[in-house]
Amino acid sequence: MYDPKSLKAEDFINHEEIEETLAYAEANKNNLELIDSIIEKAKDRKGLSHRDASVLLACEDESRIKEMYALAEQFKKDFYGNRIVMFAPLYLSNYCVNGCVYCPYHMKNKHICRKKLTQEEVKKEVIALQDMGHKRLAIEAGEDPVNNPIEYILECIDTIYSIKHKNGAIRRVNVNIAATTVENYRKLKEAGIGTYILFQETYHKESYEKLHPTGPKHNYAYHTEAMDRAMEGGIDDVGLGVLFGLELYKYEFAGLLMHAEHLEAVHGVGPHTISVPRIKKADDIDPSAFDNGIDDETFAKICALIRISVPYTGMIISTRESKAVREKVLHLGVSQISGASRTSVGGYAEPEPEEDNSAQFDVSDNRTLDEVVHWLMEMKYIPSFCTACYREGRTGDRFMALCKSKQIQNCCHPNALLTLREYLNDYASEDTKRIGEELIKRELENIPNPAARETCEKRLAMINEGKRDLYF
Ligand code: SAM
Repeated sequence: MYDPKSLKAEDFINHEEIEETLAYAEANKNNLELIDSIIEKAKDRKGLSHRDASVLLACEDESRIKEMYALAEQFKKDFYGNRIVMFAPLYLSNYCVNGCVYCPYHMKNKHICRKKLTQEEVKKEVIALQDMGHKRLAIEAGEDPVNNPIEYILECIDTIYSIKHKNGAIRRVNVNIAATTVENYRKLKEAGIGTYILFQETYHKESYEKLHPTGPKHNYAYHTEAMDRAMEGGIDDVGLGVLFGLELYKYEFAGLLMHAEHLEAVHGVGPHTISVPRIKKADDIDPSAFDNGIDDETFAKICALIRISVPYTGMIISTRESKAVREKVLHLGVSQISGASRTSVGGYAEPEPEEDNSAQFDVSDNRTLDEVVHWLMEMKYIPSFCTACYREGRTGDRFMALCKSKQIQNCCHPNALLTLREYLNDYASEDTKRIGEELIKRELENIPNPAARETCEKRLAMINEGKRDLYF
């Protein structure tokens, strides 16, 4: 039985409910009256149910789709301003005991080069990331209780936070590791992690079991209920995602929103972020072997509808996507992007030799962080390296409250400018610095509260005098 409040995966991601939702959406895809009423409802900015959102996803009417895109763009501006949060992934180990058929880390892959960073290597990678200007990382690892036990992950987190190289520091470590126990989530929380990210891959149980034929990840319920355990362990920022291409996108979209509704119903706070990865070519993985790939237009529509349906949830786009696709979805609601990513284990400090490929997938955006920052500013976005919310305890429902109160413009906006100031002073090329100076001058005017503006100006001057890590 469908029940968003249940703690059982098959109740809150209920197959029959998704099937009925898809049938309802299909039956109403040309019902313009209903579609217009859902678009009107969306304008309340309280989000949309999986049913309503699925009707919009099914709608093929050009002018309505344009309206949805315009609304997504407006929501993005209203809730997130023109800030884009920057991060980089750091792959710690590609040892894995699972059999995920889309991932080159699967246990049967004998030709991928298996690597696990030592603490000395973690240190080198982190210094290289700091030297680019990164302040926020997402750590990634395969699932292997012997090679990558929780103690190893915790040790890496400690190492990452301990490194202070020149003016560099990693101030927030998000974690993307396999589903684990409440006890381990508690340990991650104590280690000071930001968001716990876990992609569902697919919400379709039968497909899930086929796509994960062996290993602990085979257990659909254990994987799907992971966020509830994470929250029980005290982590209140969790990040959802599906790997688009594995199953029918309409099914995944409904499942994703039902998962968000479940978190809201049980824990009083929805997901902090949603990621939208698509399957990419990788070592022994050919994306064309999967039947459910989606084109760029459908991908954009999904992004826009996520923005409208869960207005307070951050949306993340990785370097799996090209510059052109990233540019398109930035307008439609994406709030975080990675830059200069390496998906190999090691590779930031020294490029990986071609013969020992350890990468999880090929990236489609190979630009340097400076190039990405420059490009964002040319499009009038503010690249933000801010990590203040989580360090000030503004996580979970407190972050959502900040979002809803519209105080973001007096808080996140100046913080974005302060961290951009640091980036310009410490890492930017001359040209990036030049357009950054103009942007900061212009954007100071967009801090509504005069006292906050004045404080921000003072702090910008302090950064120029050598101070670092100032935030609201
Ligand atoms: N091993 C962890 C787990 O079980 O969730 C998570 C880390 S994995 C390094 C990060 C994500 O990369 C996976 O959740 C999956 O969605 C994605 N991924 C795996 N293979 C991929 C591929 N060929 N193309 C794009 N993304 C892929």
